Amino acid sequence: MLLVTRAQWGAQPPKSAWRFVDTTQGVKIHYEGTEVPSDLPDHHERCAGRVRAIQAAHLADPVQNWIDIAYNAVVCPHGDVFEGRGLHHETGANGNQPLNLAHYAVCGMVGDSGLTQPTDAMLGGLRDAIEWLRQLGGAGQEIKGHRDGYATDCPGTPLYAWVQAGAPRPGGSGSGPGPGSGGGRSGGGAPPGPTAPAWPQEYLSLQDPLLHDDNVRTWQQRMADRGWPIGVDGWYGQQSHDTCVQFQQDSTSNGWPLTADGIVGPATWRATWERPVS
Ligand SMILES: [Zn+2]
Ligand SMILES: [Zn+2]
Repeated sequence: MLLVTRAQWGAQPPKSAWRFVDTTQGVKIHYEGTEVPSDLPDHHERCAGRVRAIQAAHLADPVQNWIDIAYNAVVCPHGDVFEGRGLHHETGANGNQPLNLAHYAVCGMVGDSGLTQPTDAMLGGLRDAIEWLRQLGGAGQEIKGHRDGYATDCPGTPLYAWVQAGAPRPGGSGSGPGPGSGGGRSGGGAPPGPTAPAWPQEYLSLQDPLLHDDNVRTWQQRMADRGWPIGVDGWYGQQSHDTCVQFQQDSTSNGWPLTADGIVGPATWRATWERPVS
């Protein structure tokens, strides 16, 4: 994990003592919710300054009366985990005190305009932050979004879809089965399956208006090649959704667990290529 400590990013001290929390039920994921520059992925040199600005804005907020940056950690598009309130300190980000005591808060540096899609590195960094909070901060197994239990759009559609997919680590190391994870599915020397093309960083899902692009077409083609009854037209409609759910359920019952949500995220995308045909 690429941890950037408060000292390293130049944090101001909290206005008053943090409230200690021994354990939490888990972690809630947030986004910035404002515009994030779309070229930020090309400019890691800006990230520490952006964290300082978030802290300054929180300290100056006249309504919330925050004592510090509200988040326990902030993750930039390059995967660095900026320490916020850190381990064993109550967050201020989840909406009210019961929610703040129940879950830690980790913010991904995407917004509601500009940069809205998390990079793979960011998803990996968010996963790092979750595991850091679990291993050293007493966080439980829950991974939720800010909107779970509180009226807000946060953490936005792409990050929330990732949360609902079980917050998988992109590329397959760490969470879930996959090459190199020793998942015991090699089945007595069967040849390794094909390697999935890189996940296109777009969640394929049933949307209004319907999603229509080459990523959908690529996924449909692979599904059709595997023998699933699906049209290859580039439209992610009801048939794609239903077939995706069936594929996910079939995967789970064949030892490759996927959340049956009908959304092609990183884990389902990879399984579409790499899961042995059953
Ligand atoms: Zn939030
Ligand atoms: Zn960065």
